[in-house]
Amino acid sequence: MIRLAANHREAVNQSQGVWDYISPSRLNLWLKCPLAWKLRYIDGVKTPPTPALFLGTRVHDALEMFYRHRQLGVGLSVETAVKRIADSWEAAVETESMTFESVAAELQLKQQAADLVRVYLTLMADANDIPLAVETTLQRPLIDPATGENLGIPLLGVLDLILDDRDGPLICDFKTSSKSAAPFEVTHEIQLSCYAYLYRRSTGREEGGLEIRSLIKTKVPKIEFHRYEPRNDRHLRRLFAVVRAYLDDLDAGRFVFRPGLGCAMCDYRDDHCGSWEA
Ligand code: SF4
Repeated sequence: MIRLAANHREAVNQSQGVWDYISPSRLNLWLKCPLAWKLRYIDGVKTPPTPALFLGTRVHDALEMFYRHRQLGVGLSVETAVKRIADSWEAAVETESMTFESVAAELQLKQQAADLVRVYLTLMADANDIPLAVETTLQRPLIDPATGENLGIPLLGVLDLILDDRDGPLICDFKTSSKSAAPFEVTHEIQLSCYAYLYRRSTGREEGGLEIRSLIKTKVPKIEFHRYEPRNDRHLRRLFAVVRAYLDDLDAGRFVFRPGLGCAMCDYRDDHCGSWEA
């Protein structure tokens, strides 16, 4: 792996702390497009939160409250958790400088968030899940399991929920989306491998499985559960191959654009992208 001169690394680090840690979202954005990653993490080009992202944070917040109470043995009613959406909405709008197309669009989004939480919790009311951890931030050094090499940078991740499941600890991640997605494991591979690595390094235990819980914003909200096997050596080798390639790009200061289907969803498409290599 190439290593940068200290002064260049310091200059890069000063912009967004990119040498402080690696996270699944940083890795995934770099995999999608190194130029988009640079614009966000080195150049610090801020993009406004989208309604879809804002809805996702509000739903996560309500579910976090529900499961934190359950972890303490306090059973919250579904409607108490749903009320959290309305109670926290205004403060979140202000904190995240969120703007809406219209008052009607804001009310519709708030209702959608409440409906998603209601449908999910109604479905799970009798599950009697036992949370081992809720919205937990883990950070551990990246030590390649195959070689024992410490890569000199930690991995950081926030795990939504870990449940005490029959097969062992079940690492769950909540997603909100507008449509169903086929359960292609590779879509979530980086995130799941990161979480499994962090969990194992933090507890000394192996996970019993991993699950993506999708709350889908169809007219009648739908909930989908996609469960995946514990990570194996191949998953970890693939994760570390990605981490090494990512660090090589950072060291080389090389951030080549990667046009593709993802451009349709990219905030930099209509301005900053076109300036690259202009
Ligand atoms: S529009 Fe496409 S190529 Fe350009 S920065 Fe975004 S993802 Fe990368």
